[in-house]
Amino acid sequence: MKKIEAIIFDMDGTLYSFDEGNESQFTSSRFGKEIRANCILFFKERFSLSLDDAESMYQDLNRRYNGEVSLAVEKEFGIDRREYFAFTWNLVAEEFIATNELLLPTLQELTILSGVLTAAPRVWAEKALAFLQIRQFFGDALFTGDPDIRKPDREAFLQLAQFWNLEPSQILSIGDQEQTDILPAKSLGMQTLRIATQAETKADFMASDIITAIALLKEKGII
Ligand SMILES: [Mg+2]
Repeated sequence: MKKIEAIIFDMDGTLYSFDEGNESQFTSSRFGKEIRANCILFFKERFSLSLDDAESMYQDLNRRYNGEVSLAVEKEFGIDRREYFAFTWNLVAEEFIATNELLLPTLQELTILSGVLTAAPRVWAEKALAFLQIRQFFGDALFTGDPDIRKPDREAFLQLAQFWNLEPSQILSIGDQEQTDILPAKSLGMQTLRIATQAETKADFMASDIITAIALLKEKGII
């Protein structure tokens, strides 16, 4: 495999794990549950509903919009998605994120371009990256889940390629989720690395965590 010019990092579950460990079960994680509770609270307060009715409303929108509830509130009620995100994803990073003292030096040593592509809203992405003291590595190459074009849409990956003025083949995507981080990137011709200890994957590489991943890419002569 040939050398690459840039890495697209997924955020949650890739640049950090949640302090309770494996994040792949987002909905059952403490973080996922907290966001879900906030979403239900949003409907409860906004529409003066009982908690049960608010939960039903959330479940209905979640189902009909395939998990994209922020688009549902905008489309059905004209509520700005940023207002919804600010209410639901405005969590305290240190309460959820497990820190890794090797992350900062590992990113510092990279001599290629780095970007973040996350389906999480910007309000959370900014907080999480700032808490980890790694926000500066990504500059304007931080693409979040706020716009209509968002992961796992292949267009979201292409936006980064265009931003850097690179071909997909010059980029490698790192992430912990096969469907959203690996398959769309691979279909565009990007190289891919899956963060997992054990997984069936179409990714070119697999590593248990981000530190091991970077070491592996160096060892293979990819970066
Ligand atoms: Mg992830």
